[in-house]
Parts: sequence; structure tokens; C-alpha cells
Amino acid sequence: EKYVYDFSEGHKGLKELLGGKGANLAEMTRMGLPVPAGFTVTTRACQAYLATGDNPAGLAEEIDSHLAALESAMGRRLGDASDPLLVSVRSGAAFSMPGMMETVLNVGLNDESVAGLAAQAGGNERFAWDSYRRLIQMFGKTVCDVPGEEFSNALEEAKTARGATDDLHLDAADLQALVDRFKRIFAKNTGHDFPQDPKEQLRLAMEAVFRSWNAERAVLYRRQERIPADLGTAVNVVAMVFGNLGPDSGTGVAFTRDPASGAQGIYGDYLQNAQGEDVVAGIRNTIPLDELRTLDRRSYDELLTIMAKLEGHYRDLCDIEFTIERGKLWMLQTRVGKRTAGAAFRIAAQLVGEGMISLDEALRRVSGAQLAQLMFPRFDLAADPVALTKGIGASPGAAVGKVVFSAPRAVELAAAGEQVILVRRETNPEDLAGMIAAQGILTARGGKTSHAAVVARGMGRTCVCGADQLEIAADRFTVAGRTVNEGDVISIDGTTGCVYLDAVPVRPSEVVQYFEGTLSSAEAEVPLVDAVHKIMSHADATRDLAVRTNADTADDAARARRFGAEGIGLCRTEHMFLGDRRELVERLILAATPGERSDALAALLPLQRADFVDLFRAMDGLPVTVRLIDPPLHEFLPSLEELAVNVAVARERGEDHAEDAELLDAVRRMHEQNPMLGLRGVRLGLVIPGLFAMQVRAITEAAVQLAGEGLDPHPEIMVPLVGAVQELEMVRQECEQIVAEVVADSGVNVLIGTMIEVPRAALTAGQIAEAADFFSFGTNDLTQMGWGFSRDDVEGAFFWRYLELGIFGISPFESIDREGVGRLIRIAAEEGRAVRPELKLGVCGEHGGDPESVHFFHEVGLDYVSCSPFRVPVARLEAGRAAI
Ligand code: ADP
Ligand code: MG
Ligand code: MG
Repeated sequence: EKYVYDFSEGHKGLKELLGGKGANLAEMTRMGLPVPAGFTVTTRACQAYLATGDNPAGLAEEIDSHLAALESAMGRRLGDASDPLLVSVRSGAAFSMPGMMETVLNVGLNDESVAGLAAQAGGNERFAWDSYRRLIQMFGKTVCDVPGEEFSNALEEAKTARGATDDLHLDAADLQALVDRFKRIFAKNTGHDFPQDPKEQLRLAMEAVFRSWNAERAVLYRRQERIPADLGTAVNVVAMVFGNLGPDSGTGVAFTRDPASGAQGIYGDYLQNAQGEDVVAGIRNTIPLDELRTLDRRSYDELLTIMAKLEGHYRDLCDIEFTIERGKLWMLQTRVGKRTAGAAFRIAAQLVGEGMISLDEALRRVSGAQLAQLMFPRFDLAADPVALTKGIGASPGAAVGKVVFSAPRAVELAAAGEQVILVRRETNPEDLAGMIAAQGILTARGGKTSHAAVVARGMGRTCVCGADQLEIAADRFTVAGRTVNEGDVISIDGTTGCVYLDAVPVRPSEVVQYFEGTLSSAEAEVPLVDAVHKIMSHADATRDLAVRTNADTADDAARARRFGAEGIGLCRTEHMFLGDRRELVERLILAATPGERSDALAALLPLQRADFVDLFRAMDGLPVTVRLIDPPLHEFLPSLEELAVNVAVARERGEDHAEDAELLDAVRRMHEQNPMLGLRGVRLGLVIPGLFAMQVRAITEAAVQLAGEGLDPHPEIMVPLVGAVQELEMVRQECEQIVAEVVADSGVNVLIGTMIEVPRAALTAGQIAEAADFFSFGTNDLTQMGWGFSRDDVEGAFFWRYLELGIFGISPFESIDREGVGRLIRIAAEEGRAVRPELKLGVCGEHGGDPESVHFFHEVGLDYVSCSPFRVPVARLEAGRAAI
């Protein structure tokens, strides 16, 4: 097996093998750009090293021969005493893990070659000693785990002794003394001297890069970003070029477009007389790239030409690291750059406009998650708020509120009408009530899969977690020298992770305004809205899946329609039994005779009919799936405790309590240990005569009324919780009679179908299809019953632990479990369609708006997904992406 590739041998398609950095260095070399010579040791070598603790056979020889080739190309030998070749040893994995792994510069320097380097640089001793102290520092830290502060403290002391404010003021003698000091620090911490043999330095540095793959922070980062743990990193060995040779040298970073807005132009920072890591470390103030034009016009022009070439080549925004050595430009890194959600849309649309990419490609380059981000309100940072700290944006949104430090206090203040932000070191199940009461949650510990993050996402609360600079006490926290007390107001941004002091004004999302059609073009950030429009239109033209919405009211339905919904996939009828109508439900339940029962139902009928009239009107011309009543009836009655107290009090006072006592008896009778698995859904319809019939009549009469007005209603009646075809057949028979009678010759067509949400229904879908015009997968219940997880109980109680243990990477209630629950869906879809090819298939659980899940539903061949109104655009976009 070949473990080492010269830069001239690789290309950008070999990311997995050469890592992103190595593959792109090779690509730039092939493009004829000025890249220092070098070679890449593959990720496969790293995997072998990590598995066995040793380099694989043959690796050492391959490296020797590539090094020899590099030496002859450069006309210098590694660490040669009089004229040394120096190299950098750089990590580079297939996925970029910014700042997670290690790089060692100036490998090859030792007590002798430092003089050779000075001679090479025309007697520049300062430069040589500066390079040497950097090597000992980086090598010590990275390869030998010497605490970095010991070096940086020593550097600070040297500067103080000199009265210098920055390291440029240290001269050759200062730096030589510092090298001595660094070597002592090195020896003290490691028990041996700094290795003088250049080849040994190279080998040790390489192995350290291999090991850095498993450094704690790298492991943590991968878990958070769901990057597989076994990929390994490549190692790049690159001939050094020097930005620290004097004022005609320097180093910088650049973007081909603004990664925040996507605007075209040259964005970047430059630092004169410095080596690469200085720019990121922020040790001195950089200058904007523009100013390089006046410093070094030739290099600047060349850089611009190269950047244009790279954009043309990668057909995307690139970011770049470069170094100028005495007026000569060198490219040290490039990659397709990260960008904000808004920039992703703008850049994709711009590139289409420039003829660089197709609309399909543009669609591929944006995501539903990015669109969702753009649909949240944002903080208006024009007011320049005080930034307190930055954590991990774990659940998006912009939340403002008074700081509280405990869940009970959050509940208390929220009950008094205050908006609060719950601040905790980390959350646990006991904090749940406080999390519900708060506008947002801020924690000092934990990442995207911590308890706080999972629970907050589950309930749509804004959350910033892992803000590890927070020092939290019982009634205050301190950060960056400021103290924030309970009751002080802060603002947290769940997208960026930023935390601000005081209330930052919140701006509504322009993208939402665009969907709503309320955006006046004067206020609009037009390029963003245009870009979203362009890409959404293409998604709509491309997708096979229709997108419906889950809506119970005419208002929600109208809103979803503006967001592009093509019907209602789930109208829950529960709310039609609440409010003033509770009393009628009580009468229904307490009815002693069939006559009393039908009186109660008859009273409910016109109320429900009016609801359906409004709903069908809002969705005129589009299908509306109405689910017959699903939850157990006792959910519509007063609580057992409350009633028991009322009855006891009344009895005590000798008041009349017959009615309450009767109700109490009924509630006791209907009490269930596991209501989710009890008398609900189709079971109610079969046990309580006339209940479903009333609903079906209300639906059909509403449709017939609207048809009479010249509208075009498309009702679909959906029976919940069916597990056996017999259940559905009986209900269907009853429904069909009523429908036939009411519809008469009005021309209205009513479909009757079922939810597939009990595993048995999925497994007997072939039979059930014989009695169903359509299936709608109720993935919430199907997940609940498929896993045996009570959604209301498990997410807050232990899912964070399951995520930590890797039992699943994401809650199965957030994203469909393809292998298990997904398999049930696949079986039901196939067996249902085998029996009835025209069977309509849809999904109406939360998953209908989850990007990953939408792709799955497309694969399985469903006709539509249905999700909450706000998620409709996300589902449209992802359905388009799934189809290309
Ligand atoms: P990271 O992935 O953290 O950016 P890099 O491997 O890119 O780490 O290197 C860190 C810094 O050192 C970068 O600024 C890079 O440009 C610089 N650098 C790396 N190799 C060389 C080299 N051969 N000559 C000069 N500078 C280098
Ligand atoms: Mg880099
Ligand atoms: Mg259900």
C-alpha cells in the first residue's frame, strides 16, 4: 500500500485519503499555483498507527525517499547545519476541524542549523532565533505536552524585561536567550533535551499529529458534529517559506467573497513580518488585505489573480492562507470556505447568475437547516450591544429575558409574566419545568447533545450551551470581568451562540416576511430575498413530494398556504371539544340514555361544522385531511384531584354536590394507567356510539355547504390508531353511509383513510389498504410505539445519556429512525401499494419537517409530507434537494 503522495501526485478528489488540506495543496500544485514543495502521508497510515501504536511497515522508507526527493528539489537537506531545509508538519483531516489538531512549523532547526538559517537569510540572526524559539514552543506543546503557558509566560517576561509591547521589539540576543530558557522548560517538563536530530524531530512531530486525532477536544468536536471517529488525519510535510524575514515578508488569510454576506470582493487580513500562526493567534493587530496593495503591489495583484482562478476552479467561495517571503507569494492552503446561512443562499444564487453553476448545483449547496436559521428572528446588532461571551448555538432563536439561576425561580417569575433566561452550569431532568417557563436557556457546560440542547430543541426553546467562560454562583454569574446578577437582562442568540448584556432589539426574519408576502422592498435585504426566491422556485419545480401542513384552524391554514403548503395533512379535531364545549363533552360522557347522548352530540354538530367550514374555505381547492378524535375522552374532563377536592369541600359545607359526584365517578371509571395505550383513537369511535358519526357528518356537511357556494373542498377523513383492518372496516362502513346520505348529488368527493401509527398496522398494511383510500404515517406515535418510548417522559429524562452513549446520534423523535421505524414505513408503503396501487401515502408526524427525514420519505416514494406551517418552506427545499 502506498502511504505517501507527493503534492504533484494528488488532487482534490482524494480528500478521504489525503485529508482536505493535502488534497487541496495537491490540487493547487496541479493548477500551477505557487505552492511550496511537499508531500502528504495518508489517513490510512494514521489509522494503522492509531490501531497498533506503531507506524505501518514500509512507511518509514517511503517517507525517506519522499524527503530525499524534496531535498533534491529544494537543493537543501533537512536540518543541514550550513544551509538547512526546514519543513512544517501539518495535520489535515477529511472534514475540517478548525483549531482542533496540531501543526509544527520550522522542523529541522537545532543548535547548529540555526546559524545556517541565519546565513541563508543574509545574516538575519534575529529571524533565525525567532524561528528556533517557535519550533521549541510548538514542538514542546504539541508533541510533548509541555504546558503552553510556561512558554508564553517566559515570552511575556522577556518582553517586560525589554519594556517591549510586542515580540518584534525583541532582538537576536533576546531571542537567543529565550531559546535557552525554552530548552530548559522543555527539559524540565519532559525529562530529556530538545531533540537535535532533524529526522527524529520529523518522525516525532508526525506521530504527534496522528495522535492529535484522539485528543480530547478533537473527540468532543467530532461527537458534536457527528464526524465518524475512525477516519484519522493525514499529515502534510511542507517546505517552509518565511513570512518573518522582515517588513517585505508577511502572512495572511483571505476569502474570495464575504463569508458573512456573500458579497463579492476581497476579504482578509494581513500581518507583516510574521509567521502563519500569528494571524489566528491575534498576537498583533492585522491590517485589512486592501492595504497590502500599497505595501506590495506585485504580490497583491498576483494574489487577486490566484483568487479569481481558485473561484473559477472550485466554482465556489474559497478561503486561503498565504505567505509572502521577501516579495514572493506562496499559497499554503485553500478550501471551499464555511459561510453563514444567508451567504450560502446568496453565493449559490450569484454563482448561478454568473453562469458558474447550475440551479441543481445551487440547490445542493444550501440546506433546510440553513433556511430554518434564516426564518428565526435575529438580533439587530446595529446598536452595538455588549458581548459577554460566546458558547455553542444549540437551539436557534433570539431570546431576551431576566437572568434566573434555578428552575423554580424561572417558573415563579414566568408565572408573574416576566420573560426569563434560565442560566445553569448544566441542566438535568429536574430543570424541565424551568426550561419550559424560560424564553431561553444558557449553560456553561455541554455541547449540542447535552441535556439542555436536546430538550431545548425538542420544545423549540432558544439555547446556548457550553459557554465555558461563565462562572456561575447561586445568584450571579461573572464573565470577562463583568458580573450579572439575578434579574439583570441578557440576550442570547441560539444560532451564533453569542450572549449579550441587556435587551438587544430583535428584528423579524426577512425571509419569513418574504414568505408572508409582507416585505416591502424598501426594507428588504434584496439579494438575500432574491436568492431564496430563486432557489425555492427551483426546489418547487424539481420535487416529487408535495408539502402539506399540520393545521387545526383557518388562521394557521391560511398562513401555511402563504408558506407554500399544498393542503392540510393533519387537522386535529381535539380543540373542537374544548373551551365552552367541554360541558357538552361532559354531558356526552355522563349520558345515561342513548337519547341524552345523541342530544349532546347534536349540540356539538353545528359547532364543529362551523369550524370545518372556516378551514375548508381557507384551503379551498386543496386536500384537507381531518383526523377524527384521538385522545382519551377523560382529557376533556376536569382532573381527578380537582374534582375530588370540590366534592369533599361541598360535602363538608353540606352543599349540593350530586353533579360533581357523578362526574367524579365517571372520571374514576375512565382513569387509565397508560392512557396513551388506552381508550383512544378508533377505539373511542367503536365504543362510544355516534361520536365519529357526528364528526363525519360535520365534515361532510361543511364540504357540501361550501360546494353549494361554488367552492372546491377536498375533505379526507382519517381514522387514528388503527391496528387491525376490522377496526377500519367497521368505522368505514358507518362513515360511508353518512357521507353518501349527506353528499347526495352535491359533487363532493370524500376520501376515507387511516393513520399508520401502530406497528401492527404497518405490518398488516396489505390488509388495511383494502379499506383505506390513503395512509398517513403518524411517525410520532409510530416512533413512540416502535421504540416503546413515551415521548413526554423520555426526552428530558435520559435521551441526553443515550446520545452521549451513542445509542443514537439524534433523537428518533427529531429525525426518523431509518432502520427501525423507517422499515415499518417502507413495509407499509410497499404492501399497501401492492394491494391498492393508487393508495395515497403521506406523513404527518413532526418528522415531515425534518430535513434528513424528508429525504427518507422521498426515497420510500411517499406522495407528500405534512409539517407545522413554519417548517413548510424547509420541507419544500429539502424535497427539492432529495429529488436532484
Ligand atoms: P491550521 O489547520 O490550524 O490552519 P496549518 O497546518 O494550516 O494549521 O498551519 C498553521 C499556520 O502555519 C498557518 O497559518 C499556515 O499557513 C502556516 N504554515 C503551515 N505550513 C507552512 C509552511 N510550510 N511555511 C510557512 N507557513 C506555514
Ligand atoms: Mg490552516
Ligand atoms: Mg398519533
